[in-house]
Amino acid sequence: MSAKIIDGKAFAANVRAQVAAHVARLKEVNGLTPGLAVVLVGEDPASQVYVKNKGIQTREVGMNSYEHKLSAETSEADLLALIAKLNADPAVHGILVQLPLPKHLDSDLVINSIDPAKDVDGFHISNVGLLGTGQKAMVPCTPLGCLMMLRDHLGSLSGLNAVVVGRSNIVGKPMAQLLLGDSCTVTIAHSRTKDLAEVCRRADILVAAVGRPEMIPGDWVKPGATVIDVGINRIERDGKGKLVGDVHFESAVAVAGAITPVPGGVGPMTIACLLANTLTACCRAHGLAEPE
Ligand code: NDP
Repeated sequence: MSAKIIDGKAFAANVRAQVAAHVARLKEVNGLTPGLAVVLVGEDPASQVYVKNKGIQTREVGMNSYEHKLSAETSEADLLALIAKLNADPAVHGILVQLPLPKHLDSDLVINSIDPAKDVDGFHISNVGLLGTGQKAMVPCTPLGCLMMLRDHLGSLSGLNAVVVGRSNIVGKPMAQLLLGDSCTVTIAHSRTKDLAEVCRRADILVAAVGRPEMIPGDWVKPGATVIDVGINRIERDGKGKLVGDVHFESAVAVAGAITPVPGGVGPMTIACLLANTLTACCRAHGLAEPE
């Protein structure tokens, strides 16, 4: 038996189409165009690609995209001044500072200087606190995309055993909060977890967010489990560059009930959720009904 492959690319295209339809209505009925500002500091090649793709997809759904590319030597004061300007700009509904920042900049300070209402990445401590206490928050895009795919595939998640491997602030922790919010019994595993294989085998829902190529083999997967592979790892195989996840896909696909591939699983959902969050921020800023 082979697992159902969860098609994140198609799912994300559907989310973007819904966002685009809502944006078109906002323009027509309310004369509003949501705007997303993306700030990139430095020349990290992966970040440059992400920022470019974000800009393209933002414009494709009919939103305004404001890209601010700053040199790697930008001072903290200058970056904070730009964020203050964007916080005050009514045409900007979402602000995203591309991480990682160069070492001389304090990421926590920078992220916490964003107006929480415009924090479409959901990393500001106010949004982290709101999510943790079950209040209306801006939810980090990658875990939100994972949750959407899980709900779509499984319906109710209530009572299921969920194991999240990875405890980062960007993926692992907010993922665990979202699963808890949907009444899963949640275990967060990390590099110090004892007998990780056994922990993973208990999971009805297994989310891998580690950053280690193909670390989780099929025999760590409970038969019929839903596997969400967040990992994006670039490796060399047969002399060619290749993207792989944190799960060993070929062995896991034979055991799981459903699995997200890499590429084409979680990745495309992240930008789709960023656009959805920007639309939500725009609606909230203007006291309008939020998208479903
Ligand atoms: P981090 O490096 O911040 O966190 C990795 C986590 O994995 C840590 O909690 C670490 O544990 C844990 N870990 C490391 N080694 C092991 C191990 N041997 N066994 C168990 N746990 C381990 O990574 P991120 O959360 O930012 O990203 C994780 C992956 O997801 C990466 O591949 C990244 O590229 C990808 N990613 C994909 C996105 C997408 O859009 N699809 C978006 C964001 C990330 P400890 O805390 O103990 O060190």
